[in-house]
Amino acid sequence: MAYFDLFSLKGQSAIVTGASSGIGAAAARTLAEAGARVVVNYRSSEADARALCDTIEEQGGTAIAIGADVSKEEDVIGLFDAAEDALGPVDIVFSNAGLQADAAIGEMSFEDWNKAISVNLGGGFLVGREAIRRFRRKGLREEISPALGKLIFDSSVHQRIPWAFHANYAASKGGLKLLMESLAQETASEKIRVNAVAPGAIATAINEAERDDEAGRNAMLDLIPYGRIGEPDDIGRVVAWLASDASDYVTGQTIFVDGGMTLYPGFKGNG
Ligand code: NAD
Repeated sequence: MAYFDLFSLKGQSAIVTGASSGIGAAAARTLAEAGARVVVNYRSSEADARALCDTIEEQGGTAIAIGADVSKEEDVIGLFDAAEDALGPVDIVFSNAGLQADAAIGEMSFEDWNKAISVNLGGGFLVGREAIRRFRRKGLREEISPALGKLIFDSSVHQRIPWAFHANYAASKGGLKLLMESLAQETASEKIRVNAVAPGAIATAINEAERDDEAGRNAMLDLIPYGRIGEPDDIGRVVAWLASDASDYVTGQTIFVDGGMTLYPGFKGNG
């Protein structure tokens, strides 16, 4: 197959969780641009999800908004049922929904802990398990893709970098790393590819307050050797590549998309 054709997602359906904003919205747009029919999952922002679907459709794509809370088992099963009813069997799943519930450890409530773990890690489990079940049920369609299915998690540089005052978030992303690798190991022989993207600092609602504050913004930039805060499209493009046959031999990997944040930036000036 010609090099550029490997990037096409024509004839495939994708689910993106938490897609009404930020990285999820960018990934949904890029997957649609590459030719996939896209489910834009949202938890509460139905209007934003519908507006994104309208934009995708105006640009010639196919998109549908479906509400579901990824931390609830029945919602996740319902999301996949509704997606299959609307767009047919699912080939690509980007488990992206996530949140922060920050606190210093002494003040972190068990509720804060559970919030981050149940959405970021519990949601990753529920969405990942359902994706694999549905890929198996769909069966291999070699004329569409050599893989039975592509599952991609949205992790974080904090699956590797410890994060003071965000212990629940870092623990959830560290857990996601081994969940991803274990699922990849368990399903590779079935031609299911499981990978993760690990963003650094990307300009979305999750860090808006820090970016709006000049000192906060400079502190963020100090940690980024490449010298700019990332954009959601920086991540969306990598997700589309991981979903495509251009990455067909890649499984069980985390792709760090972080402008060098994981390169020990404190040492950039000769240590
Ligand atoms: P965001 O707040 O714009 O997006 C998060 C999305 O997840 C929102 O649309 C939110 O409604 C949705 N969501 C939250 N809980 C949900 C639930 N229970 N069910 C369904 N949807 C739910 O921020 P973002 O930066 O785009 O975050 C997307 C992912 O990227 C998260 O997993 C986050 O941890 C990860 N990430 C972001 C950054 C960054 O710098 N922005 C860095 C590393 C990792």
